[in-house]
Amino acid sequence: MTRILERLEEIYAIGQHRAAYSPEEDAAHALAARWMEEAGLEVSRDDAGNLFGKRGAARVWAGSHLDSVPTAGKFDGALGVVAAIEAAGRLPDRELAAVAFRAEESGPMGSLRLTETPDAYLELHIEQGPVLAGLDAPLGVVTAIAGQARGSRTFEGRADHAGTTPMNARADALVEAARFILHVHDSAGDGTVATVGAIEAEPNAVNVVPERVTVSVDARSADARLLDALIERIGFDVRWRSDPVPMGDAFAAVLPDAPRLVPGAGHDAMFVPNASMLFVRSLNGGVSHHPDELSSAEDIALAVDALTEALSRLTR
Ligand SMILES: [Zn+2]
Repeated sequence: MTRILERLEEIYAIGQHRAAYSPEEDAAHALAARWMEEAGLEVSRDDAGNLFGKRGAARVWAGSHLDSVPTAGKFDGALGVVAAIEAAGRLPDRELAAVAFRAEESGPMGSLRLTETPDAYLELHIEQGPVLAGLDAPLGVVTAIAGQARGSRTFEGRADHAGTTPMNARADALVEAARFILHVHDSAGDGTVATVGAIEAEPNAVNVVPERVTVSVDARSADARLLDALIERIGFDVRWRSDPVPMGDAFAAVLPDAPRLVPGAGHDAMFVPNASMLFVRSLNGGVSHHPDELSSAEDIALAVDALTEALSRLTR
């Protein structure tokens, strides 16, 4: 157990921000490659730069990513890679692979550029939310990853002098956008979430009535029909949409009584065929993409045991 925590510290010490294909991400991959060799795995890389530590035919993979956001904590991604190497070391006679994917946080995602795919892929990840803590449960089985729609809505008004234009003579694009933002917020709930996270206002000057405003929309649901209904209700230009992705039952078989979860965040497991995913409880209110991100040593130990058991059942 201490080895896993020490390795998470080592990866974090390279840099809090390990951007896609940066020297910091490279250094994290180099560290992981060394640990893979120590675990008796044969190290290789594909054209996307994804890192593999394989033993034998390796038709069953476990892993996650080593890149991170600028404000990252120690667990997102790195835990899944370190745990996979640990589990592989505990199963020295099994044919399997530990994997570290590239560029999960920002793309172009390495897991979307695989030239070879496994018969089963297992990913252990910190929950990045408060649900398991609220249920007082250390581990949760992911049943599906939510579908998402992203896009925007643009409002056109007229630029006018902020001092000389009477209130009833204005076409204020930002006021219209503000009404829309409240509408987006009120449109979600019950199995769906929706967020306006970015605004562009033109000319964006304190003394000019806003002429043109574009607001982003991010809408998510684990149910494709609910997602489509939400998009319809909000009314925006969808630039990109993904369906919910069902997860396999490799962890459900090991943990029949664990709570079932449907995360709203994207993961490598969405793009690797035959994926199953396990969440470990987030402490500190579920905070993530933040230095306070935390899982306990006890919970991580349970998670690595479950990962090892799931790998053991899938391999020979
Ligand atoms: Zn992650």
